[in-house]
Amino acid sequence: MSTSSPRKVTLLGATGSIGRSTLDVIGQHPDAYELHAVTAQRSREALFEICRRFEPARAVIGTQEDANWLRAQLREARLTHIDVSHGEAALLEVSRAPEVDAVMSAIVGAAGLLPTLAAVEAGKRVLLANKEALVMSGGLFMDAVSRHGATLLPIDSEHNAIYQCLPMQHRGGLSAHGVSRLLLTASGGPFREWSLSALERVTPDQACAHPNWSMGRKISTDSATLMNKGLELIEACWLFDAKPEQIEVVVHPQSVIHSMVGYADGSILAQMGNPDMRIPIAYGLAWPARIDAGVEPLDLFAVSRLDFEAPDEARFPCLRLAREAMAAGGTAPASLNAANEIAVQAFLDGKLPFLGIAQLVKATLEATEVRAADSLDVILCEDARARQLAERLLHQRSFQRGRA
Ligand code: NAD
Ligand code: MG
Repeated sequence: MSTSSPRKVTLLGATGSIGRSTLDVIGQHPDAYELHAVTAQRSREALFEICRRFEPARAVIGTQEDANWLRAQLREARLTHIDVSHGEAALLEVSRAPEVDAVMSAIVGAAGLLPTLAAVEAGKRVLLANKEALVMSGGLFMDAVSRHGATLLPIDSEHNAIYQCLPMQHRGGLSAHGVSRLLLTASGGPFREWSLSALERVTPDQACAHPNWSMGRKISTDSATLMNKGLELIEACWLFDAKPEQIEVVVHPQSVIHSMVGYADGSILAQMGNPDMRIPIAYGLAWPARIDAGVEPLDLFAVSRLDFEAPDEARFPCLRLAREAMAAGGTAPASLNAANEIAVQAFLDGKLPFLGIAQLVKATLEATEVRAADSLDVILCEDARARQLAERLLHQRSFQRGRA
């Protein structure tokens, strides 16, 4: 417990899975952390409950109507000191507010990009859960981190594990520090052992029932297609200045090794723990100190064995698509991410079969030109273009209906 004043935190995406885990950790350390702002897109009841419990200075929601509703509820609860606002401009404001020390980026999807960049440009400690922002804008994002002196701490469990296993000063190239490869572990998702024909009939609820992690529906679907591992491969390239060929994906069904770093002398360092996002979140909040995350210590005798397998890219082509997009460079990862967001939503809405996700992403990328990702405008333009194209292909092609 710190004796200095509490660190002020903006929590973007407070009502989501990462948001709730972050609230849990902050709630355990009220003297060390204080919420400046909490945000949500639509879940107004949940945001109201969070306001009641934590009394942040500000709350931000998607629409004016929901903001009016929230204000009325807070008035009734005599919590009028909580300032309520709505929309993207308010998200940017709470991300760069001068009194804020740390911003947890836990909005899902491309919507997280601008608020996260705003926090980076304000030189904050940025706890990065939102991988889509980095996948879209990689080079630009990392340049902004160094230009504005932001402290970027990866929260995605694999990247947090790698961060913990790297030497403190790993900037300046992995090989200069004797690192030979990064081993990105993957649970393999709920369909690791399913045949291709069984995969044709997967429903959204089956895809969202992850064996080891409880997460939002978008990332759960990404875990089931292995696109999540593909996005994470791109994320790792940017975070650790690694080439795709320096990263090996290792399927590890127990999900207790969260990733590893291989060194030139043959050593491999692994970070282990129960699969619970409160561990990387607590690490990010307290770094370089360590605090209690409220997680049971790992019982190695209960785990008893650790298995490792190579990923099967024939059944899970999304991993290969992501690797190819990273190799193509420029705006290709942004287009991959945009097409995937459209495909996953269509799958969750029952408009696209499970195997159609990879097909739609592939078809979108094949019809998309790669441009140099040298400005945010270009990236956002390519994001919009890939979304439109994916929507159009979804309605034109035969993978669209009947099989979901
Ligand atoms: P979730 O769907 O549970 O929550 C998403 C949050 O973002 C909600 O608070 C929602 O209100 C908000 N949001 C959604 N759309 C928005 C928009 N357009 N504008 C503003 N806010 C919006 O998602 P999650 O599982 O918590 O994941 C959040 C991010 O963290 C994702 O990028 C995911 O890839 C990453 N991540 C999650 C986990 C996990 O265990 N859940 C692990 C690693 C990384
Ligand atoms: Mg992860």
